[in-house]
Amino acid sequence: MALIVQKYGGTSVGNPERIKNVARRVAKYRAQGDQIVVVVSAMSGVTDGLIKLAKEIMPLPSEREMDMLLATGEQTTIALTAIALHALGLGAVSLTGAQAGIRTDGVHTKAKIQDITPKQIHSLLDEGNVVIVAGFQGQTPEGQITTLGRGGSDLTAIALAAALKASLCQIYTDVDGVYTADPRIVPSARKLEEISYDEMLELASLGAKVMQSRSVEFAKKFGVVFEVRSSLNENPGTIVKEETQNMESVVIRGVSLDKNQAKITLAAVPDQPGVAARIFKALGEAAINIDMIVQTASHGAGAPATDISFTMDKADLLKTRKLLDSIQSSIGYREVIADENIGKLSIVGVGMRSHSGVAARMFEALANTGVNIDMISTSEIKISVVIDLAKGESAMKAVHAAFLGRGNDGKLE
Ligand code: ADP
Ligand code: ASP
Ligand code: MG
Repeated sequence: MALIVQKYGGTSVGNPERIKNVARRVAKYRAQGDQIVVVVSAMSGVTDGLIKLAKEIMPLPSEREMDMLLATGEQTTIALTAIALHALGLGAVSLTGAQAGIRTDGVHTKAKIQDITPKQIHSLLDEGNVVIVAGFQGQTPEGQITTLGRGGSDLTAIALAAALKASLCQIYTDVDGVYTADPRIVPSARKLEEISYDEMLELASLGAKVMQSRSVEFAKKFGVVFEVRSSLNENPGTIVKEETQNMESVVIRGVSLDKNQAKITLAAVPDQPGVAARIFKALGEAAINIDMIVQTASHGAGAPATDISFTMDKADLLKTRKLLDSIQSSIGYREVIADENIGKLSIVGVGMRSHSGVAARMFEALANTGVNIDMISTSEIKISVVIDLAKGESAMKAVHAAFLGRGNDGKLE
């Protein structure tokens, strides 16, 4: 008898028919005698709708209250899924994150899981039930409800698979697996049979929302092998696992585009030791995650100054602006300029470590499409550029074609 964790995303539980479809799939596994823990997201559009409601009342609502609000999305789905299983004659019990024993720190809206005590899950499974757990949520030791960041149901599933030592972890979504690029933007993208944790982690943190990046980090840390597959058919999906030797022969595994970044430029920042530290310390203390940072050469003769640009999640832009406005006079930059119309385009592949000429080929593809590069950042296995949002999708197609187009499998000749 195997213990299987199955996670169903928003589209897979988007209406009563889809929820019944989930119940039928779970029933099939159950009939084989396996124990099943199901993790569900809120029905598609529900989380966005709740955020919109709150923002209609106040642009920057309390993060504690946002967690209270957003946790209701998943709570609706767990109960409906349990009801759908009852309708098929199966024993099923729904649990909130707190009831499932998911304990987190107190950073509201992006809490980290500290530990899981799955006592109740085990006893319900032993009684013959399917256990349905609300994704995306947990509880602090003090009893506060928290959420795990957008897309956080993936993390709930992976963390539960680790805590329960599940023999299988399946992430069901609305595409057949992980593709070389978002198939909704690049129709010629291909499904990957397998991908390494590091590549999946980079693709996810660089905008491929098929998996939440923190969930992949967690899977890597605890060695949870998982499969991303469709809830709408029986096709095999993509296996995400530790890197194997033959993965290095592929230079570019995939291309991703992050449209949810914003850029801030601080104009004329005094060019003195300690200034950047003060700015980024303040941002860090406000739990704002900064991504790329670029500082220009010093300008101005008497009192030298530089411009510092950096990118962050669009969702944090308002909070960031407010903070930077409040420390402007004490640090002494001239102006805070925000730009929401940027896109971050990235190529990812472990084979990049041992190949040269990759950046040149990417930049050439962009040049041929008339795309200007605003910022560049690289690591061992990725190259990212910030470009104009309006040109993001055409740039993505061009770069995908350059590395992974027809007859090209990501290996450079
Ligand atoms: P769920 O609601 O199941 O969690 P998401 O909407 O979060 O699903 O993620 C699935 C979506 O991710 C797909 O519909 C697809 O448009 C998008 N996506 C982005 N990049 C990729 C990629 N490289 N491979 C597959 N899907 C991708
Ligand atoms: N409902 C949450 C979101 O939309 C979590 C998830 O779907 O994974 O971000
Ligand atoms: Mg998701």
